[in-house]
Amino acid sequence: MSLQNSAAPAVLGHFINGQQVASLSERTSDVFNPATGAVSAKVGLASHAEVDAAVAAAKAAFPAWSALPPLRRARIMFKFKELLDQNHDRLAALITSEHGKVFTDAKGEVTRGIEVAEFSTGIPQLLKGEYTEQISNGIDAWTMRQPLGVCAGITPFNFPVMVPMWMFPMAIACGNTFVLKPSERDPSASLLLAELLKEAGLPDGVFNVVQGDKVAVDAILDHPDVKAVSFVGSTPIAEYIYATGCAKGKRVQALGGAKNHMVVMPDADLHQTVDALIGAGYGSAGERCMAISVAVAVGDVADKLVAALAPRVRELRINQGMDLEAEMGPVVTQIHKDKILGYINDGIDAGATLAVDGRSFTVPGHENGFFLGGTLFDHVTADMKIYQEEIFGPVLCIVRVPDFAAALDLVNAHEFGNGTAIFTRDGNTAREYTSRVQVGMVGVNVPIPVPMAFHSFGGWKRSLFGDHHAHGPESVRFYTKQKAVTQRWPATISAGAEFAMPTMK
Ligand code: NAD
Repeated sequence: MSLQNSAAPAVLGHFINGQQVASLSERTSDVFNPATGAVSAKVGLASHAEVDAAVAAAKAAFPAWSALPPLRRARIMFKFKELLDQNHDRLAALITSEHGKVFTDAKGEVTRGIEVAEFSTGIPQLLKGEYTEQISNGIDAWTMRQPLGVCAGITPFNFPVMVPMWMFPMAIACGNTFVLKPSERDPSASLLLAELLKEAGLPDGVFNVVQGDKVAVDAILDHPDVKAVSFVGSTPIAEYIYATGCAKGKRVQALGGAKNHMVVMPDADLHQTVDALIGAGYGSAGERCMAISVAVAVGDVADKLVAALAPRVRELRINQGMDLEAEMGPVVTQIHKDKILGYINDGIDAGATLAVDGRSFTVPGHENGFFLGGTLFDHVTADMKIYQEEIFGPVLCIVRVPDFAAALDLVNAHEFGNGTAIFTRDGNTAREYTSRVQVGMVGVNVPIPVPMAFHSFGGWKRSLFGDHHAHGPESVRFYTKQKAVTQRWPATISAGAEFAMPTMK
């Protein structure tokens, strides 16, 4: 397959009240094709007024949408799911053209998003409340869950289809209306998702997209009609969104950055471990919040591990993402590439051993693309910046520890707690690790333990601010509020006023 041809840079706009609308703002941001380095489009950066228009459309659509029986909402999500299947390759190609990840990986991302839409079709079952008949004499009580109103989603560049779809299918199926603010770095997929929802029969105004940056985000956080905000992105912004949104009385879930460790025990199957580390460390050029960026080599396994890993890192097939043989594409922008290069230089300065150096890698014919080779550091220590901070690139660090206890202490002392894995053949070691590790998602001989759509996704510590994980059953709780009803239909005339606290008689 060839690279998507991009026409002369157009200015991508918003999707408000059922139609694409041009950006009114004079501020724009460049959208790149990371494989060529060329500007493929510009995206308008919304002003307050454009956010207001999207929120007003969502607010106006809420009464009718929330009153629709859940089964009717589910049927629209069924249709949406069918349209997603039909447009699977088109969505994946859009991701590759703006994010850079390889097409096969982009297709996997779309599948993971579709699965949330699929889960949302079960909303009539998921919204059922609890009921107690005869909670007291002649009295019945029940709880029910009702939608919140206008919800907003603010999403990162690294999953331009999947992460928005962690949010809006469930929010909408619960009866809310939605305003999505996608990443300005890969904005096109969100507009196609909006078109597909409309084609599926979603009423105008229920789903809206505003492109933008901090101005749009702050307008969302300030807006009194936005009742809930779901955020996924880096930790400093997640913390800002959580603190600001909560201070303004909104319900907020803000998923942040990560530094995911894979503990490699001396008894692990080396072949399987190396395969797992190559995929989890370098897939999507390391631009995944669940990427493994640290391998914790326990006991005497480190030398064998590095010897087996290094040639595999050098042999990674790196090319533009529409090459179906490619295992890794470019990183998202030149700015991001420079940031990763800065980390690699920092690691060298700090005294880590550079086992594989990907800094000067280029793809013939794509010399201006934002490519980096795979990079492997050995003898990394906990005081180094390359260990402490999220690099978000194709850089894997090996930390050597003497035993299991030291490995567990290391992982638990890190500020992030998104995902982790342990590779071992010993069931008791795996059990101890899963029980004692302070991380939200744990894999046993599974390098990237991303929960599926019918479970929920989320990290611990500074990888998540808020109480609810994303998608799955947790999202029903996040996107609805509980109401408790107590009801009596007296058959006789009133027995008079009661002044004591009602108790069971
Ligand atoms: P980012 O934090 O730079 O941007 C995320 C969103 O916030 C974007 O929509 C962006 O426009 C907006 N934003 C950026 N700066 C802002 C500011 N100063 N004020 C208000 N809004 C702002 O993140 P990114 O670079 O797009 O994505 C990569 C990060 O996302 C990584 O840290 C990665 O770990 C994280 N991530 C986490 C998860 C998770 O589930 N925990 C999933 C995917 C990505």
